[in-house]
Amino acid sequence: MELLAVKGLSVTFPQDDKTNRVVDDISFSIRRNEVIGLVGESGSGKTVTATAVLRLTRQPADIETGQILFHEEDLLTKPESELQAIRGSKISMIFQNPRSSLNPLMKVGDQIARAYRIHSKYKKSKAKSEALKMLKLVGIPDPEARYEAYPHELSGGMCQRVMIAMALACNPDLLIADEPTTGLDVTIEAQVFDLIKELQKEIGMSVLLITHDLGVVAETCDRVAVMYGGHIVEMAEIDKIFREQKHPYSKHLLGSLLKLDQKSNGDLNMEEIAPPPIDYKTAGCRFANRCPAAYERCFSEKPPVTTVAAGHTVMCHLYEEGNQVGTIA
Ligand code: SF4
Repeated sequence: MELLAVKGLSVTFPQDDKTNRVVDDISFSIRRNEVIGLVGESGSGKTVTATAVLRLTRQPADIETGQILFHEEDLLTKPESELQAIRGSKISMIFQNPRSSLNPLMKVGDQIARAYRIHSKYKKSKAKSEALKMLKLVGIPDPEARYEAYPHELSGGMCQRVMIAMALACNPDLLIADEPTTGLDVTIEAQVFDLIKELQKEIGMSVLLITHDLGVVAETCDRVAVMYGGHIVEMAEIDKIFREQKHPYSKHLLGSLLKLDQKSNGDLNMEEIAPPPIDYKTAGCRFANRCPAAYERCFSEKPPVTTVAAGHTVMCHLYEEGNQVGTIA
């Protein structure tokens, strides 16, 4: 059953004298208890998509069109007061930089307890005991002592755990985790992802996970959406994406993973593959100027989204119904 259905979402961003559609007519859904990975290079539209779901897109970005159906109700038409009640209680978000998201002047335990007081209307003592339980659940040693700490007294990994504790404090139906391990070392990174996966099973929530790390995606996600230039160019179950990816960009991305895997035991950093700027104004496929399989039509016509198998969609002329070209190495 679908928890979230994003339909035809477009977000625009002004640049100089033009307006770029940085997220362009994307659609995807998240089922209950499902983990969806959103992958792609920086600037592909992942974070804009995530913030649009919560209608937290910052000016001058603007949600142009679309529907964001959560429990079948469109978040884009709700008044801000109703959205505020949903944020943090039904949908929580973990941001990239935990230190900048925590209040530096407030004890971390009180910040978690505050979430319980606001969203669950708990009294002070109950909120504190729940916050202590949550600190324990996210693996913070000596929760009583850490409850009294200020963010600057904790390591980056501990702050990220506090952020996760805050995000989970109200048993959200959906957790949006945007590069939740940025700036953390590899060991802590693995622990944070293990923790999210464990808690996802325990609490039974759905997760939209944005990450550059395809190794983490392989271990954590049920399905994956690959973004390029503001489009979802391919979406499929995890096995399909890793074994039978179709889109030339997905092949490039996963091919890079395999190459880097041989060198660095799976520690992929897509930033190492510097992409050229995306031409948002192109009439055709936005990947055309990098695509080894591009042909004339790709530069003039936007490719449609084609379903190539159950639950597997590809946005590429090669896989359009009736097109016999669809065989690339
Ligand atoms: Fe390549 Fe053309 Fe497919 Fe775009 S539509 S990915 S340019 S083959």
